[in-house]
Amino acid sequence: MIQLEKSKFRPNEAYFVEHQKRPGWWIFQGSFPYAVCTIIPNEDWTVIEIHHVIVFNEQQRRKGHGSKMISRIRRFFPEATIWVDTWDHSRPFWQTMVDRKYINFIGNDYSWPCFDTSCLTCHPSRVNGIRRFQRKEEEK
Ligand SMILES: [Zn+2]
Repeated sequence: MIQLEKSKFRPNEAYFVEHQKRPGWWIFQGSFPYAVCTIIPNEDWTVIEIHHVIVFNEQQRRKGHGSKMISRIRRFFPEATIWVDTWDHSRPFWQTMVDRKYINFIGNDYSWPCFDTSCLTCHPSRVNGIRRFQRKEEEK
């Protein structure tokens, strides 16, 4: 089953394009121009890590392009174990993807704040986006 899907889609550059700098990593373009992601398969594509999901346009966010893309990857590899490491702010999205069985599991069971210091989900105490630690008055 997976072999069939693989031979059907992997050579087709419309869907999967090998990452230019990282051999063995593939860009999935099946939802272009709305979204792309990077996938990192093992040798026989039975275990697939979804690595870097990008939904391009701010106005296109929360319109289901991300979940549509993930569901397509599942359709290509129905028997693969698909997993992801996730930032704190995108964890609810990925939990929904687990619930819908598009992916098998979230890899990290620990909190993982993103690098965007203005992201209030990942950095709730950085209300003003200041990077430096600031002691509260009562702690001095
Ligand atoms: Zn974040």
